[in-house]
Amino acid sequence: MLRILILLLLLGGIALGVRSWLNDHPEHNPWAPLHLDHPPGWATQRKLADLRSEAGQCQAVLDRSDVGYTALEPAGEGECRRESRLILDEAKLSPDRAVSSCAVAAAYAYWMQHGVQPAAREILGAPVMRVEHLGTYSCRRLYGRDTGRWSEHATGNAIDIAAFVLEDGRRISLLTGWDGESDEAAFLRRTRDAACDAFGTVLSPDYNEAHADHLHLDQQERMWGVCR
Ligand SMILES: [Zn+2]
Repeated sequence: MLRILILLLLLGGIALGVRSWLNDHPEHNPWAPLHLDHPPGWATQRKLADLRSEAGQCQAVLDRSDVGYTALEPAGEGECRRESRLILDEAKLSPDRAVSSCAVAAAYAYWMQHGVQPAAREILGAPVMRVEHLGTYSCRRLYGRDTGRWSEHATGNAIDIAAFVLEDGRRISLLTGWDGESDEAAFLRRTRDAACDAFGTVLSPDYNEAHADHLHLDQQERMWGVCR
């Protein structure tokens, strides 16, 4: 009887300890609401992925995280119907006013804060001032084919990143900077790897020739995304 009591007390103590630790580390706590300022943790990827099917919840995350945005009315029809459309206020994107799904916007904001900017400061010694992109929305099938699966771009649920411009004026493009052992190449690879923690699909120049000049990042809903 005494042994059982001691065991129960011990288990209770462990449970309390775990609970208080999770309270201090919401990034590891699957039940804590997502905040984009939280550092990357065990639960972060799952929580960002959950936003793909929850546009309302997604905007609540942006609100909670003090990420400014302008929400737009749904638009388009058929395969190109976009229920979730918004523009981030301060995304450093060029061209600016990139309209995307909320899930892409939230993942982008998270990736910039926890992946791109720390990598730029650490490896290149300067923060990123501008991110050049090739577009978000495009009503088309994969690779612009006439048949087959529709692209995530058809619903604005993707963004193609072509280059980063640093505060000191340096421009690092996927096309010219990817290969080799330079700091620029190390930086680009780190941004690709970090994107895999935030987006469902990440396709880099390593994936195929069609992605030689950009990182394709999307928030397709599926169990196992591609990250290459
Ligand atoms: Zn793309």
